[in-house]
Amino acid sequence: MPLFGPPDIRQMEAKRDTQGLIKALAFKDAAIRRAAAEALAPLKDPTAVEPLAGLLKDENPGVRRAAVAGLAARGGFRVVEPLVGALQDVDVDVRATVATAVYRRLMTDPDAETRRATAAALGRIRDVEAVSPLTKAMTDSDDAVRVAAIKALQAIGSLDAILPLAIALAQVQVREKLTGKPSPTVERAATQALDALCDETAIGQLEAALQHDDAEVREIAVRRLARIGSPLVAEPLAASLSDEDPVIRRAAARGLAEIGWKPPADENGAAYWAALREWRRCAECGKAAIPLLVTSFAHVDAPERGDIVAALAQLKWKPEASDPLAVPFWAGQGRWDKCVELGDQAIEALDDILGSAPRWRDRVGAAGSLATLNQPRSAPFGRLDLVQRGLAILDGDGSADDKRGLLEALLADENLFDPGPQEVEWCKCGYPAARILSDGTHEPMTEMLGFEPSSSNTITYYCPSCDAKRITVAG
Ligand SMILES: [Zn+2]
Repeated sequence: MPLFGPPDIRQMEAKRDTQGLIKALAFKDAAIRRAAAEALAPLKDPTAVEPLAGLLKDENPGVRRAAVAGLAARGGFRVVEPLVGALQDVDVDVRATVATAVYRRLMTDPDAETRRATAAALGRIRDVEAVSPLTKAMTDSDDAVRVAAIKALQAIGSLDAILPLAIALAQVQVREKLTGKPSPTVERAATQALDALCDETAIGQLEAALQHDDAEVREIAVRRLARIGSPLVAEPLAASLSDEDPVIRRAAARGLAEIGWKPPADENGAAYWAALREWRRCAECGKAAIPLLVTSFAHVDAPERGDIVAALAQLKWKPEASDPLAVPFWAGQGRWDKCVELGDQAIEALDDILGSAPRWRDRVGAAGSLATLNQPRSAPFGRLDLVQRGLAILDGDGSADDKRGLLEALLADENLFDPGPQEVEWCKCGYPAARILSDGTHEPMTEMLGFEPSSSNTITYYCPSCDAKRITVAG
């Protein structure tokens, strides 16, 4: 080798002479510095990191690119800061090379700490170009990387991050629901990032999120819109009143209530009240409420069904005979004659009422209608005929004393009660509940009551007139 000639890079490369190549990085000829940097890349020598990082300030763009490639080839935690710093290089080609190195190489480095540090560094320089790789990093297998990516997106402040953040938050919540495995740090970071990003300027992004296929994402968007509390959110929230998911409809209605939205007396108003399950208010919006009331009927429990039927009756709606609502509708108004008119197609719905209506008088009505349709049932009344006669006396004309007399006569006729030595124990509603024997013991008049099996093999008896629970006995 000539004493003062240029270093022979090829020879050093062949000999894997790292120290010689590192020395050559300082040579005055840019072509040599570049060749030395390129030769160092495949060697991945840790001692080359600092000298290569120093070359990122080289005056020659080609040298800087070779240094970037050398550092990127090595990867790992130590090259993060120099490479991320080089994202702000003055030369567009250098920047492009650095961008590939950082976004593709470092963000997928096998070492999680490197990925985390890269995301954090990108947040510190608020690199708007990094939104897409950081968004990808929100699905990283390592929670610390995901948190760093989320915080970086928050720092960058790009509205484009809102939908991916909402998706990431929804995924964490769904995963916790399905597997019981929470990711509290990720959840907290995503929530804080959305807190920081979701102001009036974010309405467009949140509106787009309302179109997402996953209900969880739509729910986050609705709640975020509601929190903005500006009149500008009224339109997207009103649109969500017809979301297929009732939780979202409800969240939208609550958000509208919070901004003082006045529900109009049209289909929007009806949807608003239906979302809040205020069925009577819903009906006040007129005919537009009918389809909502009818479709909601199948999705609510018995007490609300009663409210829906009342609301439909208020709108003078009448069901078709084949309507699944026909029996509950007429039953809700005590029109058992209409139920019987429906014939065999009423049987299933009548059995439903018989087994689950909260008001025992409805069960009596259903049992009576079934019997009229030649479908007598052995439960929940042992003697339906006696229950019906007892209720007829109680509901008839006359004073309370008259009714007691008539009821005692009925019970005596049926040998349920001996007027001599026994007394009747009356329910607070005036219906007979038990006989009191001469020794003072109370025997429930089970023939006059409704019964239902309850837990641990017992039977509970109810007053069919006022629903009072009378007694629970071993089954
Ligand atoms: Zn009673």
